[in-house]
Amino acid sequence: MADIRLKSVSKRFGAVTVLENVSMEITSGEFVVFLGPSGCGKSTLLRMIAGLETVDAGQIHIADRRVDQLPPSQRGVAMVFQNYALYPHMTVRDNMSFGLQNIRMPGQEIAKRVADAARILEIEQLLDRRPAQLSGGQRQRVAIGRAIVREPQAFLLDEPLSNLDAGLRVRTRVELAQLHQRLRATMIFVTHDQIEAMTLADRIVVMNNRKVEQIGTPMDVYSRPASRFVAAFVGSPS
Ligand code: ADP
Ligand code: MG
Repeated sequence: MADIRLKSVSKRFGAVTVLENVSMEITSGEFVVFLGPSGCGKSTLLRMIAGLETVDAGQIHIADRRVDQLPPSQRGVAMVFQNYALYPHMTVRDNMSFGLQNIRMPGQEIAKRVADAARILEIEQLLDRRPAQLSGGQRQRVAIGRAIVREPQAFLLDEPLSNLDAGLRVRTRVELAQLHQRLRATMIFVTHDQIEAMTLADRIVVMNNRKVEQIGTPMDVYSRPASRFVAAFVGSPS
């Protein structure tokens, strides 16, 4: 499983710098949360790790391989999007199989992986439905299932709970923690929600205004905030 290392990663869109000299090391199997206000660059950073955005400066390594110039399919990571990005005309089974068919995996192996992921996520009875016939929570599981079948070294999750209603959001959060324990995969989870970060993370990367403000355990950032920003955003109220 992957160690992910970012070294002085920077990103501009036109004249606007959105990330400046971001560095971090993520240990394999860790649950890391990128936490920060809207617009601070969380999604951009995640998309750069996935290979969906180019890197202007710096390096990204996954499992001791430099990947920042590689296409997304060669990085060994799988992304789960906020809007799920399912194909509406395909069944759940086909949505989960599609990426594996594209890399010409044998059909038997695909069927086995889809069945295993469906069992883990308890969506076996939904495999022949289309996305329109699913609830929001069910769609979200399918989106995670589509990542699981690829057996990635790391899961990259961009605000995956934010379209769920409050109750389901809490339940899905608990399930995601259980899934992490079960798969023992590296997970990077993006959110602007402090409670999600505090309850899910092994370590939190607090971001603001182009930069990483602090990297630490939930306890660290809560009780020993490294800056005024961190104190105001996640710190103890006292
Ligand atoms: P977050 O996920 O933390 O809300 P984003 O990474 O989406 O933040 O965006 C960071 C900044 O980069 C924002 O100011 C956003 O408007 C800008 N941005 C993101 N994507 C693009 C793009 N493709 N072109 C221009 N600006 C962008
Ligand atoms: Mg975002």
